[in-house]
Amino acid sequence: MKISKVEVICLRIPGYDEACEWGDDAFIVKVFTDEGLVGIGESDTSPLVAKAMIDAPESNLYCGGLRRLLVGENPLEIQKLWDKMYWSSNYNGRRGVGIHAMSAVDIALWDIASQYYNVPIHMLLGGKYRDKIRAYGTFIPADSPDDNKIIVRDLINQGFTSLKFGGGILGDDPESDVAIVEAAREEAGKDFDLSIDIATKWRTYGHAASMFKRLERFNLNWIEEPILSDDMNGYARLSRLAATRISGGESLTTRYEFNEFIKRSKVDIVQPDITRCGGISEIRKVYDIAAMQGTKLVPHGFSTGILLAATVQFLAAAEQCDLMEYSQSTSPLFTRLVKNRIPFVGGYVTVPDCIGLGVELDEDLIDKYRMA
Ligand SMILES: [Mg+2]
Repeated sequence: MKISKVEVICLRIPGYDEACEWGDDAFIVKVFTDEGLVGIGESDTSPLVAKAMIDAPESNLYCGGLRRLLVGENPLEIQKLWDKMYWSSNYNGRRGVGIHAMSAVDIALWDIASQYYNVPIHMLLGGKYRDKIRAYGTFIPADSPDDNKIIVRDLINQGFTSLKFGGGILGDDPESDVAIVEAAREEAGKDFDLSIDIATKWRTYGHAASMFKRLERFNLNWIEEPILSDDMNGYARLSRLAATRISGGESLTTRYEFNEFIKRSKVDIVQPDITRCGGISEIRKVYDIAAMQGTKLVPHGFSTGILLAATVQFLAAAEQCDLMEYSQSTSPLFTRLVKNRIPFVGGYVTVPDCIGLGVELDEDLIDKYRMA
């Protein structure tokens, strides 16, 4: 079996020059084979930038696009192809969007392998530890504290036993941060698992340290990405100081970055995104590093049902991973792109024993929102 074609699909809901919110655009890769099997992958990244990473012609031995490295190769040689892509793009790839594009390809190759061997991906990964995974809901908060109470109540009524919010105005202003957290905590009750995501907007260790102190009384489950992941000394100082657990790492790629971040930043929870960190192949290596350091891994996941399907297969086969993120995005790219999206039911997601990722894409929706 050989790879015959690599197709890139870039989707976007708002107009090209309009503001875009998390989950409102998508980068999808389809890998075709000469035996008719097709693998699907995605990356939560800047779609047109990642597309260039697939399409670019060769500049030199170390610099070029991924397609020319893949066509004609055996798609079952997943690690060998990962290494080939990494080595052959180490000027333009190696971190960031280069690895984002590789992540999408890697996920598509696992999809193909599962179809070829006719066993679920979690079986190829060594076996399933659990049939269902507890899922927490992530929402972007409303500006008004009271409106967030309505959102929290609605999600609890849907069966969520753990919630997180971030984005919007959270992180912009100390007073409104406190007011929003206070309202959400009041509605959820004092023992409910409630976390917040600052998306690095507290910027400095000093400001983050003062906010951790101010929010301590709300007993948050974790505070995510208070500052940029490059400031590993800042994370380490926060972790010595804070009573609240700290999480981070969603922007990092490859085992190399995670190895340093996990060991130096001392976060309690590390959050690789399977569609950014290097795909299914690489998140397993990140998991091993995290497990050896006693760091919990809870993957980042706020994109389409393709990411969701890949994340669930990885988590099912990772011994110490028992919690996942479940997007509350209302974007059609989350709600409709994958017609058979894995559902959230009663606090959990059931691990499907399907062959491949099992995702069925809405081709009409793709036609409607395709930008490249
Ligand atoms: Mg986050």
